[in-house]
Amino acid sequence: AMSEEVDLNECIRSALLIARNNIKDKAEVSQMLGELPRITCAPSQINQVLLNLFTNAAQAMDEPGRIQIRSWADEAGVFISVQDSGRGMPPEVMRRIFDPFFTTKPVGEGTGLGLSISYKIIRDHGGSIRVASEPGRGTRFLISLPRNPAVE
Ligand code: ADP
Ligand code: MG
Repeated sequence: AMSEEVDLNECIRSALLIARNNIKDKAEVSQMLGELPRITCAPSQINQVLLNLFTNAAQAMDEPGRIQIRSWADEAGVFISVQDSGRGMPPEVMRRIFDPFFTTKPVGEGTGLGLSISYKIIRDHGGSIRVASEPGRGTRFLISLPRNPAVE
């Protein structure tokens, strides 16, 4: 993939624009974007990861809710968290979410590939993707990317 020096807040904004139609009747989005160092990454891949997280969050809403997007940086890296007030996941679902083709969605709504691809993309960038979820309360995904990721 093509690597560039990127401000990940730009990736957040462009993924949000694309996701807007999926989100608009389902959730109110709030953004708390901190100042980030530019990092070397493949922006189209990071966009794909964020788009999937935003779409998943919107699809997790049983009633209109909230999606909070935060970004910040420290000496080690850049962090993006996506938190939703959706239905959350029981442990037996959470164990499988990064498996290819695992989905709890009706045919046509989900392929079950989003998070397995996202996991690979973030790993290829030397980062990590972690999740915390509480059934009935919501889910939070945290992406960590090193300041100087090794990407081709
Ligand atoms: P898909 O969205 O096509 O189902 P993903 O790999 O993106 O595939 O997600 C896999 C499964 O993980 C989803 O079907 C859903 O059960 C669960 N999941 C992912 N994100 C969330 C979320 N924000 N809230 C609740 N469940 C989620
Ligand atoms: Mg998905």
